[in-house]
Amino acid sequence: MPKLNENYQSLKESYLFSEIAHRVNTYLAENPDKKVIRLGIGDVTLPLSSEVIKSLHDGVDDMARAETFKGYGPEQGYAFLRNAISDYYKEHHVSIDPSEIFISDGAKSDTGNITDLFAKENTILVPDPVYPVYVDTNLMAGKQITYMAGTIENNFLPMPDKTIHADIIYLCSPNNPTGAVYNRSQLQEWVRYALENHAIILFDSAYEAFISDPELPRSIFSIDGAKKCAIEFCSLSKTAGFTGTRCGYTIVPNDLVFSASNGKEMSLNAMWNRRQSTKFNGTSYIVQKGASAVFTKEGMAQCKKNLAYYQENAKIIATCLTQKGFRFFGGVHSPYIWFECPEVEGSRDSWKFFDYLLNNIQVVGTPGAGFGENGKNFFRLTSFGNKENTIEAMERFDKLF
Ligand SMILES: *Cc1c(COP(=O)(O)O)cnc(C)c1O
Repeated sequence: MPKLNENYQSLKESYLFSEIAHRVNTYLAENPDKKVIRLGIGDVTLPLSSEVIKSLHDGVDDMARAETFKGYGPEQGYAFLRNAISDYYKEHHVSIDPSEIFISDGAKSDTGNITDLFAKENTILVPDPVYPVYVDTNLMAGKQITYMAGTIENNFLPMPDKTIHADIIYLCSPNNPTGAVYNRSQLQEWVRYALENHAIILFDSAYEAFISDPELPRSIFSIDGAKKCAIEFCSLSKTAGFTGTRCGYTIVPNDLVFSASNGKEMSLNAMWNRRQSTKFNGTSYIVQKGASAVFTKEGMAQCKKNLAYYQENAKIIATCLTQKGFRFFGGVHSPYIWFECPEVEGSRDSWKFFDYLLNNIQVVGTPGAGFGENGKNFFRLTSFGNKENTIEAMERFDKLF
């Protein structure tokens, strides 16, 4: 009989989106004439830009001719894409060598797979509320997690607690689910803490493209010292609508070298390279070809247009919440708007509030309980819907409160 990875028993049932679907379907079965508006999804809705589509077609054509056909590619990604990403960072005044960039099929895989590089005996700090992938992938590997609370008091931006030692720290900014964004001095403080503790920051910047204030850091590597203590995960999912196309990238600086217990120096870049070459055969050439168009002038302009559409939706939601006197987080440099549930029948419970919105105004959001203990009285709305529906949802919201 195989001995199973019993760590899977420590995973909480992930019923968030299935429970939402179940409640909506039940409601619709009983109220077939009602129009439900979904502001709960964490997925883009606009199609890929024409530049990306053109480039994907070019990639397909390359596959049709012997002279340009591609078989197995480099596991790290094609140079044309790694160079384009290096240039993208340069435009934001961050210097990243292409050898530090690893192309993947998305940030979810990489944020999960990175656990391969670290031993069990680490103090791992994870914010709560949180993107569940960081938690579940560590639990699957039998690792212990220490949570740091995101609360109204710290604007959902937990800061280092100097009285405790950490080895690995997960940060996500702009944050999913809270929409909160670390400023430069806050990230500087995290980097200082990581350097003092010889810790590694695993920085998820999947929403960097939503940042519209040039003073806010889009990359941890825009902070001095970060190349000695951070790995960054990014993705074209939200930047360019690649959630179904699949392409991400991870930056593992060459400076990340640590002494092993036998005194040998180990490079995280070399380890990740080995890990990827062993367990991954690269992102599809066609997809990488499509992805490269995102980083051209015209391609980036088209991406920005789509991002502006979502940002406009976020503004519609934020404006309504402001008028109603709701305190919220996010909604400016993020597609997410996060707020404390108002009291409904004597409770701020996020599932109760979910039902209240569904039953009264047929608007679907995401209960904060799905993102951790500290989210249980909070609610997430997203700007990934279409504009007409977003306006209508907020008109209904306006009448209800
Ligand atoms: C959407 C999202 C990603 C992107 O994941 P992909 O696998 O690249 O689609 C990464 N991190 C967070 C927090 C996200 O919400």
